[in-house]
Amino acid sequence: MTEKLYEGKAKILYTTDDPDILLTHFKDDATAFNAQKRGTIVEKGKMNCQITVALFQWLESKGIPTHLIKQSADDKILVKRVKIIPIEVVVRNIAAGSLCRQTGLEEGSKLPFPLVEFYFKNDELGDPLLTRDRLLILELATEEQLKQLQNLALSINQHLQEFFASCQITLVDFKLEFGLDKQGKVLLADEISPDTCRLWDQTEKDPQKRVMDKDRFRRDLGKVETAYQQVQKRVLEQLGSAKKGL
Ligand code: ADP
Ligand code: MG
Repeated sequence: MTEKLYEGKAKILYTTDDPDILLTHFKDDATAFNAQKRGTIVEKGKMNCQITVALFQWLESKGIPTHLIKQSADDKILVKRVKIIPIEVVVRNIAAGSLCRQTGLEEGSKLPFPLVEFYFKNDELGDPLLTRDRLLILELATEEQLKQLQNLALSINQHLQEFFASCQITLVDFKLEFGLDKQGKVLLADEISPDTCRLWDQTEKDPQKRVMDKDRFRRDLGKVETAYQQVQKRVLEQLGSAKKGL
């Protein structure tokens, strides 16, 4: 028996016969600015699903524990059910988006070291930036888990930066979600896709043309589908050659 457990902005979670396994369906719906802007991106569900599977497989091969079990359809994956830690972990390599708005850093400036930030995953509050002490006071994670999130995020950043560089894509920043499995182990969950990353095409210098992620939708830059398709193509080709050991 399967039933709808949760419908979010980009995905629907279903239960399966196994209480420890959930089915994730990636939707074509797109939202931005805390769902104030809504639309659809043609075939986004399939593209984000394929991209997430490829990147999670790559990360697993590097020793990062993830919730991915297997892909079950073009736009569906089976995952280990976890208790999501309500923190959005953001890693930034280059200044963009809210970091520029809040600090005055110029968009595109390279940060001297990867910046790991924690945001409260709470739509009603607008996902505010947390401090370490706020996070502990709210009991969103323990000190030990916080350390693990920080280390995992930095390690994931290393591996993803390397992977995207081989696709001639610059990984500007991205958002991760983690969860705890039945044993209390921290697993990388949710998705990694052009919805959740800023990706710049290294073969394009123009600051608008180089955008390959959801900023095309947010900022009405057009050619959203083409950009997602390009990311999918390059990621799958790269994973293919990595698997062959080329
Ligand atoms: P949202 O609108 O909250 O971002 P999404 O549309 O992204 O939601 O749907 C996915 C939801 O499922 C998210 O709330 C995410 O935290 C949660 N989730 C992701 N992976 C898992 C998992 N393995 N177990 C349980 N919940 C998960
Ligand atoms: Mg989400």
